[in-house]
This record gives sequence, structure tokens and C-alpha cells, in this order.
Amino acid sequence: MIALYARQSVERENSVSIQTQLAYCRTALGPDVPEEELVCYTDEGWSGGTTNRPAFAKLMADIAQGRIQKVVTYKLDRISRSLSDFVGILAQFQAHYVEFVSSQECFDTASLYGDLILKILMVFAEFERTSIINRVRDAYAKRTDMGLYMGGRRPYGFCLQDTVEGGIPTKAYVPIPEEAAVVQFLFAQYAQPNMTLYKLLDRLSENTAVSGTSRSWSTAKLRAILINPLYAAADAALYQYFDSHRVRMVDGPAVYDGTRAARLYGRSTHDRTLPDWSDMKLVLLRHAGLVPSAVWLACQHKLAANKQAGNSLSNQTSRLAGLVVCGRCGRTMTTIKSRRKDETCRRFFQCTGHTHAQSCPGIGLPIYAEDLEALANRHIAARLHGMGELLVPQMPTTSDPAAPLRTRMQEIQCQQRQLGELLLSPAMSPELLAIANRQAASLAEDRYRVEAALREHARQDAAHAPRFRLASLWDTASFDQRKAVARLLLAGVVIQPGGGCTFLWQTSVAPP
Ligand SMILES: [Zn+2]
Repeated sequence: MIALYARQSVERENSVSIQTQLAYCRTALGPDVPEEELVCYTDEGWSGGTTNRPAFAKLMADIAQGRIQKVVTYKLDRISRSLSDFVGILAQFQAHYVEFVSSQECFDTASLYGDLILKILMVFAEFERTSIINRVRDAYAKRTDMGLYMGGRRPYGFCLQDTVEGGIPTKAYVPIPEEAAVVQFLFAQYAQPNMTLYKLLDRLSENTAVSGTSRSWSTAKLRAILINPLYAAADAALYQYFDSHRVRMVDGPAVYDGTRAARLYGRSTHDRTLPDWSDMKLVLLRHAGLVPSAVWLACQHKLAANKQAGNSLSNQTSRLAGLVVCGRCGRTMTTIKSRRKDETCRRFFQCTGHTHAQSCPGIGLPIYAEDLEALANRHIAARLHGMGELLVPQMPTTSDPAAPLRTRMQEIQCQQRQLGELLLSPAMSPELLAIANRQAASLAEDRYRVEAALREHARQDAAHAPRFRLASLWDTASFDQRKAVARLLLAGVVIQPGGGCTFLWQTSVAPP
């Protein structure tokens, strides 16, 4: 079955009626589609801001049951006004092999170009979701700057007590004496020169009086405690330690007088192997530290040294991996890491025929991954630029000034058809024929005038309609979004001997 979907939020003088929308959908399909193939879904009085509409829900249910092959609407915004909802719905259509056609925007997912645009839209719809995440993150930042409790499990050694901070109800950390003693034991032991996490684990199990009754310990749990500044008396040395790692310090150094403990907030609080800690921040809390700052810092240096030894072999590949081909022998080129004198690493592409089999002399000069990625970025930006502008799918069209013209046009077409049938009927008398002919001439004149007016409307619409440029979205895209778009557009990069690059594009992507 082919679904025709129409929606009208409120009845207005110049909004496009449900019947007119359906007529447009019918026209978009062409005359060859039999009427019994069609099924209409209409939501009257429903806004495009919600996807929770009765007929639309029925349509989605029928799609889920595999009863629909194609969905046709008058305009994209009949489906949804929100880009992310729209893209989500298109993804559901795709999952059930449902084609989607919009009669006004020439958006047809069955075509290669429509399919590509859909995929790119999906990548960029992330933007809407990301902006929601950002709003949540801003609120989070405000609360954490005040050192407020953000939920989660209680840290070992403390219980959480209701309190009020700056007029906002929150929780305070209050030491549990037995657990606090275990924490102090752990730090004091681990700070010893020959102590390891495994030895510390043994110490704990030997010493049940210290380790408590039921808690099961592991090196990961020990590490999580030892790395947490919540236990340290925050003084100038601790300030200096976090400040030198580029952690954002919410309180000034003067307040770090050793009477209070601090809390680390941020995404990577548990992964401090990364050299850059600038996405974390340290906030002073009300409670006193359990461990002197010098002991706490000694433990950090040991933990950091251990972690370094375990992590040196982690490798990083290029986002162009798998796409780069040697122009001399046609084999794939992979990234290789080279360590320079100053201990920094650079990745460069090398022909696998050269590195593995020695069967290819290679390109002859290093192709640095970051240079090639930057070049690919510029080519993709130019490519998206060439695709020009797309109409914004969520364009609001509650008022369509051309609607009366469109309705008039449909009437004219209908009358012309009826008149044609009448003229062909054998019962036509000469008098009637004369009247019919006059009427036909006047209709043709009318039609010409309405068509011209509609063309002018279309021209003005095109001039004023909101549009977006894929190229400008690309400018602000995140690394992952760029990677996804690069994978969609690029078929390969051939590196010529001497270092020249040829970019090969996916064939369906030729700008129209
Ligand atoms: Zn080669």
C-alpha cells in the first residue's frame, strides 16, 4: 500500500487544507497508481511540534507491520517540524524499506541523491541532540561550581548528610570513623616505597580488624580511593599539583589552607592517563581531609608511574584508515607511528606492500596522517559547498499565501477535465458547444493567470525560505560527525609516488 499523509494544525483562511494536501500527494504519484493501492492518513488540528498524533501513530504502526511501501506528503514539515524527530522518523521508514516522497520539495529517498542527503541529515541531526546535552551540562556546571552533591554512590569513608549550601539543599560528607581509619591506613601504607596495590590487598585481608567485615576489595577499588582528592587535606601543594595538570580551579589558591578537602568533577575523573585534564575541575568542600596532602601526593606519583608502564602501547589510527591506497602498487596504506627526539609521536601512512612484503618501493616520502586529514577536510568542505543549499525541513508553513491560488488551480483543472468530457459527449448540441467553447477559453485564460501568479509565489518563496548549507554545518561539526561524513563521501584517497593525492568520491554523491 502507498500511504498519503496529511496534517493541518489549525483551520486558517490561507492554510493548505487536508483535501488539497492529499490532492498534491495524489498528483506526485502520477496517474499510473491505482486508487485501491492508496490509503490516506489525516491528522486535523494537530501541530507538527509533536509526533504524538493519532493518524500518524496509526501510520507508523502499519509501517511496523510491513503494510506500507511508500509514504507521500505535501511537504516535509507535515511529518515533523523538528529536524531530529524528522530524521528519526526517516530512519524508521528506512528500517522497514519504506520510500518517502514529498510532493513540494522533490525529496525522494528512493533516489541516490535523496538517500545521501538523508544520511548526511542524520549526522547533522546530532547537533540538536548535542545542544540539549549542552544545556544539561551548563546546569551541571553551575551546581558543581558550588560543590553541590550531584548524586551517585556514597564514597567509602563517608556518609551523606542533608544540608543546605547557598540556599540549595544538598548533602555533606561526614566521616564514618571505622571506614575513615581504613582510608588512612590505605594511604599511609601505599605511600611506602615498596608497597604495591597487590601487596596492599594482601595487607588488608591479613588485617581484618582494619579491613572491616563484609567489604570485598580489589586493586581497582583501592585505586579509586587512592586517586580521589576527597580524602586529602587540600593545601598549597595540592593546588599546585592539580593546577599544573591544567585542571580548572574553581577556588583561588588562598583558600587552600589544608583545613578542607576538595572534590574533582568532570568526565575523565577516572582516566587520568590522558595528558590533558582541562575538562575537569576541582572544588573545595566543607569537610576536612582525612589524609595529609604530602601522603596523598606521594600516592599519586606512584599511581601515575604504574599506569604509565601499562599504557605505553596503546595505538591510535587515522580516521582515513582503510581509505588510503598506494598509487604505485594499489595496496592499502596503514598508519605507522614514529617517535621523535622530543618524545612526541607522529603517525604517517605507509604502503603495506612496502612494510610487509618489501614488494613495493613505497611513496618515497612520509605522508603524515594529520596533514592528509587536514587536506581531506578541506576537500570535503569544498564538496559540501558545491552541494549548495537545502531547504530547512522544519520550515514552518502554517500560513501559505499561495494556498487560495493552488485551490483555484485545482478547481480549474477539475472544470477543464469535466468540460473535456462534455465536449466529447455525443449529446452535444451546437448551442451548448458554443457555450462550452467560450467557457473553455475563459478557463484557459484563468489558468494562465493563476499559473503566472503561482510561479511568482514560488520565486519569492525560494528567495525567502530558510535554508541551510551543509558546508556551514561542516564548519562547526564535531570530530565524530566529520568522520561519519567523510566515510559517506569519500571512496578512497590515492597517494601518488612523490606525494600527490587524488580523492575518489562515492559515485552517488555527484552534486546535482
Ligand atoms: Zn605500494
